[in-house]
Parts: sequence; C-alpha cells; structure tokens
Amino acid sequence: MLPQLSAPDAAVHPRVQRYDQPALPSVQQVHINASFFSAVFAEELFNLGPEELGCLEDRDEPGAKVRVIPLELQRLFSRLLLVDHQSASTTDLTDSFGWNSSEGTNQHDVQELNRILFSALEHSLVGTSGSTLIQRLYHGTIVNSIECKECGNVSQRKEDFLDLTVCVCGVSSLEEALWNMFVEEELFEGNNLYRCAQCSRLVTAAKSAKLKQLPPFMTMSLLRFSFDFAKCERYKETGRYSFPLTINLRPFCEQTDAEDSDFTYDLFSVIIHKGGCYGGHYHVYIRDIDELGLWEPLEEDCKPKTQKKIKEEVKESSEPNLQEDDPLSIITAIIAQESSKSVLLDQLGQKLMDKTGSSWSKRFRKHHGPIGKFLQSHNDVFILVSNGTRVALKANPPSPVTDASAPSEQTTSSEPSAAPDRAASDLQPEANQKPQPKPEGSHWFDLNDSTVTSIRESDIEKQFQGKESAYMLFYRKTQLQRPSEALNNPQYKVPSQLIQLAQDENRRLQQMREEFEAANNTLELHLHLAPFYKMVNGVLQPVGKDPAGSVNLSFDRRKTVGDLRITIYQMQELWEGDMALSVAKSLPAGLHLYNTLTDDSVSLYSAGIHTNTDLFVWNGKEVCGAGVRTGAEWEPVLLTVVRPFIDEDVEQEAQNGAKSEKCSAGSENVGPGLKREARGFAGGATLGEVREALGEQRGSLLCQEHKRGEGGVLGAGEGGGASGWRVFPPDDMQRTLKELSLKDGDALLVLEPDSFDSSVFTRDGDMVTVTTPSDCRWLQVEFRPQIKGGKEEQEEQRKKVKVPATGNMLLCEVKQRAIEELQLQEETLGAAYCLRQVDCSGKLLPPVFEELSVRDAGVRLMTTLTLCPGNAPKESQLFLHFTVGSAPSTGMEMDIIVEKTCTVKECLKAMLDAVGLDGTSWHLRRLDWCEEVGEPLMDEDASLSELKIGNGETLVVTEGLLPPKGFLKLSVWLYVDLRPMETDCSRSETSPAEQQTQGAEATDGSCAQSISLCVGNAAELRDVGKVEISDDATLEDLKTQVLTLPALQDACFPITSFLRVWQMEGGRLTRILRGQQLTLRKLKLTTGTDLCVQGLLKEEELGPKQVLLNIKMGVPGERSYYPAEELVWDASHDSSPRSLRTCLAAHYGLSPDSLLLAKHQPEKHAWEEISNWTHQVSKKKKKKKAESLLGPPFHLRDGDVIGIKNLLIDNNRDFVTAEDQQGQQRLREQAEQRRKGEQPAASNGAGKTKSRKLEVPLSISVGVFR
Ligand SMILES: [Zn+2]
Repeated sequence: MLPQLSAPDAAVHPRVQRYDQPALPSVQQVHINASFFSAVFAEELFNLGPEELGCLEDRDEPGAKVRVIPLELQRLFSRLLLVDHQSASTTDLTDSFGWNSSEGTNQHDVQELNRILFSALEHSLVGTSGSTLIQRLYHGTIVNSIECKECGNVSQRKEDFLDLTVCVCGVSSLEEALWNMFVEEELFEGNNLYRCAQCSRLVTAAKSAKLKQLPPFMTMSLLRFSFDFAKCERYKETGRYSFPLTINLRPFCEQTDAEDSDFTYDLFSVIIHKGGCYGGHYHVYIRDIDELGLWEPLEEDCKPKTQKKIKEEVKESSEPNLQEDDPLSIITAIIAQESSKSVLLDQLGQKLMDKTGSSWSKRFRKHHGPIGKFLQSHNDVFILVSNGTRVALKANPPSPVTDASAPSEQTTSSEPSAAPDRAASDLQPEANQKPQPKPEGSHWFDLNDSTVTSIRESDIEKQFQGKESAYMLFYRKTQLQRPSEALNNPQYKVPSQLIQLAQDENRRLQQMREEFEAANNTLELHLHLAPFYKMVNGVLQPVGKDPAGSVNLSFDRRKTVGDLRITIYQMQELWEGDMALSVAKSLPAGLHLYNTLTDDSVSLYSAGIHTNTDLFVWNGKEVCGAGVRTGAEWEPVLLTVVRPFIDEDVEQEAQNGAKSEKCSAGSENVGPGLKREARGFAGGATLGEVREALGEQRGSLLCQEHKRGEGGVLGAGEGGGASGWRVFPPDDMQRTLKELSLKDGDALLVLEPDSFDSSVFTRDGDMVTVTTPSDCRWLQVEFRPQIKGGKEEQEEQRKKVKVPATGNMLLCEVKQRAIEELQLQEETLGAAYCLRQVDCSGKLLPPVFEELSVRDAGVRLMTTLTLCPGNAPKESQLFLHFTVGSAPSTGMEMDIIVEKTCTVKECLKAMLDAVGLDGTSWHLRRLDWCEEVGEPLMDEDASLSELKIGNGETLVVTEGLLPPKGFLKLSVWLYVDLRPMETDCSRSETSPAEQQTQGAEATDGSCAQSISLCVGNAAELRDVGKVEISDDATLEDLKTQVLTLPALQDACFPITSFLRVWQMEGGRLTRILRGQQLTLRKLKLTTGTDLCVQGLLKEEELGPKQVLLNIKMGVPGERSYYPAEELVWDASHDSSPRSLRTCLAAHYGLSPDSLLLAKHQPEKHAWEEISNWTHQVSKKKKKKKAESLLGPPFHLRDGDVIGIKNLLIDNNRDFVTAEDQQGQQRLREQAEQRRKGEQPAASNGAGKTKSRKLEVPLSISVGVFR
C-alpha cells in the first residue's frame, strides 16, 4: 500500500483507498458505487475491449461509435480499484450521461436512478458482447399465478425485474415482506371473484407470485416512502425493518429442487437514506468482497470488551500499575494502548495531556527535560519509527503497515501495490474476546460524502429504523465465489491500458505527496563554519564578512543527524577530521553554542532541530586553538566598554582639528569625552577576567552606570555633560557577568586611577562623576525661519553657529548668543523664537525651557538646537500638541502652551479657542500607546500636572460629552437565529442562499429595530436596550445585567456561560468577548460600544487565540454552499494558513491538500483566497516570516466566513455565489450613481425572485448504437 498523503499534523486520513467514497455527495455517486461496483460487474465490463466500445479519444470524431458510458464506467472502476486516492470523481461519467452539473447534484430518488442507469448502460452496450450484461447479472423473473379453485386451471404471467420492490409498511423484516409477496396467497372470493377462462364464469381463485429466475445480483428496493391519503402528504416509513446478511430465497421460489447454494445470497451493499421524505442524504455501506481495502478494526474492538458507561472505572482498574509521577510508565502505557502500537511524536503531548490532565512542560519537564530528550534517553524502552516521526515500544514494535499516517518512507514505489498489506487481522490482538469476524467478506466500509470508515458487520443490521434507514439492499449469490486470483488483487481483469492510466495517476499523486511531505518536513538550517570564526574573549566572532562562513541548507527533518553530517561533509570537500554539529544562536555579542548533536541515528526532528536553527560546524574541540564554552550559563554579554580619551591617537586627531567631528560623531550615542566600544564577553567570565581581557591592570576601576531614579526624556544623568558611575567593589571581581546580572548593552566604565584626569573624573567614595572635557563644551544652533515647508533647499540656506556652552549655562543665554552670532537681532526683534531639539527622525521636539540650565533641561552638549519661531514655555508651563476629532497625522497637529496648573476644562477651552470652535459638547482624550485616540480625561477639574500630562504630549479634542465617570453606556442587541431549530444535515427546504436573500429583504425594509446579518446564517439583530455598567464590572456581571433587560426577560438562558457577547463595529459582529472574569476596562470596552448577545445551546469559553469561524463547504459544481456551521479554530500555537487548513481538514475528514479556502469579504461581496500550501513551500528562500492569518492581510476574526472547496470533487474554484454577484452589481450601480451625483436608490427587493429548482424527470442521454 502506498503511503497516504500525510504530514505529521494531518494524520486524519481514513485509511481506505481501494474503495472510494462517492465523489459527489449526491445520490448518483453512492449509487454508482453500490450497485455497479461489484467485482463481478466490473470484471464483465472490463472484458469489453476498445474494438467493441471504441475509444474515448475518438468521441468527438464524426461517425465514430464511441460508447461513452461503459468506457467512462470502466475508467471509473479502474480508478476506484487502482488509484491510490481517497476518491475518484464521477464527473466524467455523469458528463457522459449528458448531465450538467445541476443534474449531477440534484437529489433524485436512488431507486429511480438505478433503473435509469441500468437502462442507459444497456442501450450503450447494444451490439457488443456486453449487450446482455445487465440482463445476465441483474435480470430476474417473477411468475404470477392464478389458480381456479373450481377447475384447477392455472394461468401464469411472467414479470421481469431488475430490482425487487419490497414493502416496508406493516412488516418488520425483509423475510416477512418476501413471505407476503411470494408465499401468501391472495384469495378471490365473496364479492371479488375471478373470471376463469376455462370455466367461463366467476369463480373462487387463489393468486400467488413466486420468484422464478434468480439473478446473480439481487437488488431490493425498500418502499420507505408512502403517501398518507388522509393527510395528503408523503411520509417516510421509519419503523424497524430488519434484513439478514445472508438470505435463502428458496421458500420464495417456484422451483425448489436445486442445491441450497443456488438460493443463498449474501448482502454486499446497503444504501442508507438519511433525512425526511422531501430531501435527504444518501450514504452507502459496501462489503469488501475481494479484500481490496484496508479495513481497520474499530477502536472499541481493540480494547477489552467493556460497556462504555463503565469505561472510566475500567480504565482505572485496568491500569493499576500506572505510576502517576513516572513519565516512563505513563508514556509506555499510552503507546501500548494505541492500536497501531505507536504514536506520532507530534501527538504524544496531547495524548499525555488526555491521560494525565497536565502537559509535559508543566509536570515533567523540570525533572526530565524536553520530551524528545526524555524519549532519547530511554532508548532501551522506546524506538523511533517512520524516520523518527513516531515513537513505539522497543519490546512491541508496530508492524510497518499500520503506519499509514506517518510521513512516508523515502521509497519511490509508484506501482499500485498489487497486494495491499493485510493489516486488519494483525491489528486485532485482543479480538479473541469478540466473535472473530469471518475471515472473508466481513470487511465493511461506510462511504459517506467524503469519508470512508470501517464499520462492523453487526452495525449494518442496526440500520433498520429511524431517520437513517436502509433504502436499497444489494445481495449477491453466495455461489459467486471470486477467483482466488482476484483476492487482494485490484488489477484483476483490468485492461492494461486502464492499469497504465491508473499508474500514471498514481505516479502523479505520489509525486505530489512527496513534494508535500518534503515541503512539510523541510528545515531551513543556517550553518556557520568554524574556519570563518575566531574566539574573542570567549565569544565566537566571524572573521571578516566572508559570506562563505555562513551557509543556508534546506534539509529533511526526517533524515538523521548522520545524514546531515554526510551532506555537510560533501558540501565542505576540504573539511578534515572530525565534524561536530552544535546548535548555535546568534546573540548580540556573537555566536553562542548550546548542545552538540552527538547521536547520528536520531532524526533531526527528534533531535529537536527546528527550522531556522543555527548550527555551528566545527571539530568539537576548539576554534583557532581556543576552547569553546557551551550552554546557557556561558551565553555571552555584549557590554559597552566606556573609556576616557586616553588613547593617544584620539588626542592626536583632536589636535589635528578633527576633534569636533570626532566628538560629535561620538556624541550620537556616547557621553561627552568618553570613548565607547561594544565588546562581547562570555557570560560565565568573571569581572576580573573581563578586566584582564581588556588589558587593564589590577588597579583599574570598573564602574557601572548609575541609573538615577528619575530622569527626563533624555536622562538627567547624561544631560549637561555629567554622568554618575558606581565603582564595582573588589568582591565583584570574582563574580561572573551572569551573576552580576549584566545584560547586553550595559555600560562598563574603565578607569585607571593613575591617569585620572581630575578635570574630567571626580571620585567620591564608590561614585565617579564624569564631567565633560573642555574641548567638547559647545552647542550648535541652527536657524530655521519657518517650521513647515520644503526641506531640502532650506537646509542649505540654514545658518548654523557653534556656541560655547557648559552644563550650567542657561538656555536663554545660549539663544541670545546664537542670535547675536547669527546676526539675527533684527529678524527676531518683536517675534517669538524658541529653541527646539530634533529627534532622530528629524521631528522637532517641544521647545526647551529657556529658564533652565543646559544640564537641567536635559540638553546634551555637542548637540544641535534649532532656533525657530514660536514661544518658549516657561517652567510652569506645558507645550502640548493637539488635534481635533481624530488621531493626528504627521504635520496636522497643532501646538499650544498652557499652564501646568490649568484644568482639563481650561485646557480644552484654550484649544477650542485656538481653532475657533465653541460649544460644550467636546472633551479631551489622550493618545494611547499605538498613537490612536485613547482614554478620555475623565476629571475635567483636575489639573494637567495632576493627570501627569507631560511636556510634548498630544491630546485629542473629541466631539461629544464626556461619559459618566467609570460608567459605560453600552447598546445591546440580541442575536436572533432565524433558522428553524432542527437543521437537517441535507439541504433543507430553504437553501442558505434563500436565507440570505430573506436577510437582504429585511435590510431593505429598513426596519429600525433590527439589523440583518449576511454572515451565511440567517440571523437578525434586535435592539434590546442599553445597559449602564461600571468598567470595573466583569464580563460575567455584564451578561447578568444584560439578562435583566426587559426584552430578554422571556429568553431563557440557563447561565451566563451560555451567552456569547459580541462586540460590534459598524453593524457587524467583530469580536467575541472572552474571559468571564475580565473587567470591561480590560476588555477595552468604552462608552458607546455596541454589543450583541447570542444564546448558545452549550457553554462556551473561548481561549484568547481561539477564533470562531463560520465555515461553509461549497456545493460541488455549483455556486452555492451548504449551510454555514461554526468552528472554533485554535490559533494559539500556529496561526498559519496550514494550521487552519489542517483544522478544517480534520473537521471534514478530508485531506488538507484537497481544500481550497477563502475568506468572505461581505462589504465587497468578494472572496479572498487563502493561499495554498504550494505558496508557502515555494523553493525560494524568501520565507515570509510570520504567516499568521490573524495579521495582515487576512486579519481573521470571530465570525468571519470561510468558504471551502473540496478540490477532489469540485472543479469550480470560484467562490463567488450568485448573491455575491448581485451584491457586486449593486455596488457597481451605487458607485455609478455616486459618480453621477445621484443618491443610491434603495434596492427594492433585489433578491426577491426566489428560484426554487424545478423537479424535472431524470434521464440519461445515450447515443444510438443500433
Ligand atoms: Zn376454472
């Protein structure tokens, strides 16, 4: 058997491959499988060669007699038999019937279809040796007799049948119905006499019927649907009705003298009808007569025979030896209980969780390390199989065939396996407790829409009654023994050209799977080669920037460490000696090594290698003669080493006139007079070793920057040219950088006490103060006559001057000096000018307080100030930016200077005055951290300083009155589901399309109190009032209060957890509020927010990254969808498209690669396709970093509609529905009207024309072959 398409995270495939599920979820598919796909029939059909049927290739040639239907059937059968896929499309076949897509998917009665199909095939085979095929296999006769009780004359009439219609009404079993039909006699007597031809008068007579000729295949159609004449409606018989797996028809036959075996029939297929009498859904049970499918015993069969109800008890008592705290015994037990005797590594964590109720990390990691390591360290107990993706017990390894869901072996057998492994019986170690299924003919599969599952024979017989009940039964003569060659041999009798076709297809599938597998298992590794590295102070640093030192490598994670080593040896032909591979990490200080991969036999996956792992390739001993310390405790730290200008070169430069540049360049991120240098040191090195590495003597002082408790924007410590440092006490020399908590970026001042320049450095106890050297005492002032305006030309014209300055100089003095030196006295006379700093992006910062000294104002020496128009604030004032209405966009904000003591109200007034607005319905809000309009300033009488509004902060003048303090006023809507309570799984009488249309009508009706939602499920929002609630209240409090609203008095929600609360934006549901105990403030609810409450049938507690999606599967071949259903997608670990795809695939029981997904954009009436996995795995190295669906461009949110196409059966890749098109049309019209300046007219009842499909009689078009 070929390996299934499977990624480790997609192990949800049914493992049946030979028998395929119906490709279209419609009656035809089920039927074709059930009635035709008996091996005998297929075999007979395969006997017809191209000389009789023609070739499909010639079908369009004029005059060519191509019998399309049998050819397509041959093709379908061969694909079902041989193609290694879960499904085969029947579209070609239904096309050959001359059906369009709607006929192909419309619900037709399966019994009617049976006859039509037979008839069509028969017509297609006229004139071939297969012309009698249907007759030979399915045709039987009944003889009806009437015996005159007077003269004994018997008159007989023969009746043909292809299927027997049997009564369900009033009988309890198939046997009883047959008894009534073929054993019971009907008497003509009393008023109802029979006219005997012999006696020529009305006589008493007995009427009976008998089976005369029994066909090899006996089809029974059950009359489930009856008509109630009293009520004048159709109804479905759902009463108990049993049928045997084996039936002896002898009692019902005319001739009874043959061998018993001539009358014995075995059930081999059952079509089940599910649903009511006007619609419904078919699925089919098929017995695998030739044992071509892989039948899996059901899970319960693998366990000791126990009642489900007492399962829990049994579980505990059957595991008395399970030691709760021993992970070894727990994992052993988990694996032992698996039917496959192995567990996907990916799933082990979950299984552990299921078993013990807590995760590995929580429970065992502390003592046992990562789970992968734990398994490895117990390699006497565990072995990794399937290239290291599954773990099994060494003592009890799995047989390889059970491993279908593991990543494929690297073999490339694309031959359809002639003899699929028979795993089923091997898989039943404990089956001796149950009646053993018969060795042959006991394997049944349930083919339901898109899934194929193994079922027990005993379950077949349960389909006697209820909504889901047997509808057609297919029996075959027991005598029809299949030749032994046919057993396990799907190729049996299949014409070679069809085998060829199937093999080609298998090869394509195999290739796809391998690509998929490879892509799923490909790791991007970054190799760092030791020859390109050197050790500097215990830190690995690249030598130069040679790109050859770092190599990217894509590698299959299922391959072993040894494989990787060999590959690297091959890449590095010149490599000599040992090669060690160590997991490395690029830290700010340099590359650091962690564990070294020592076990060549484990896969990269098991070794814990993830994609984008850095690996250091070296000899395992040293780099350039220096030993390498590995592990977290030796992680290097990148320190900023600060030294005074004692370097002679620097002094030299300073004398050469380059000093100013040097100083100013240094001053960008360095304090004045100091030289800074970033250097990495091993985290395990002591401070003493660091001092040594720096080439300092033992007497040198090492100091740590002293962080003052408070500081302005720029840090008062650094302003004005003085900074404070704390000397490390001598004891600290023995402590490591880690112990001293030194982190990347921390500054370390190194001073030699002897060469202390006392004009620069002053020491007081353990504190050192650094004062600016004299040649760095200046400030540059640049004149900018206009704040706004074109930059480039002006910058040229800007006058600059360097003003001598000290930390003690007042800024107003600096300004005055600058104005004098720039000779701007005239220009600035009478006009207000101020000094402003510029940030790194060139943006002007608030004006400096000119009454303050350079140091106190936090201005660094050797920086530039801009002299520009505007008032400078006094120390008692604040310089604020503000905007009106919305968050500021660059350059649009206005400035104002207000007293720090002024109240919010006064400040607001001043701002309104400044922009010429008045009125009272305004309030002030802050900007939040992401520069959006944030919290209102609630206390209007508080002063700005009380509210800690800082200099340069931006406030937003917002329209509307201030909400009452601490109270939120929230509008509440009720979500009203308009769907009927009971939803049939089939397409019920109202299609979702129609439901949407109804929604649209309600909108058009502009009902003031309700909003209709077009989210795929028909629902309406009703205004139920407002609640006023403190923002301290929890979500639960909110729900409780909502339930007290008068409009909700009648709604019965048992408890608040049955209530879902949506946040709305613009009439749409956008977010489900999570966390019952979170406060409304935490939930960021603000006054005016619209909420919508929705009653649920069960409790719900969504996690922060669980997204509730409305998913709907496309109806194959049609532009419509099955009704939407809700699905919770857990994106907490992985929010990539692949994760969603996997989740949906698991939900539908499909393989992820066959799904096409798109997000509906209701405003645009369009669908945004969510990229297929092929995008992700494109060979290009440009891997997008985070492909989270929660972020751009998809921004998946609660309530989003996800459309799904199952590409296996649906070749319509277009997600757009007719409603979408209407919507798009409306949008175009509205745009057009807007363009013409018209008001868009209310679209009145655009969707009122409900189109209900007419029931048309079904027919199959057949060519004429006479
Ligand atoms: Zn008679």
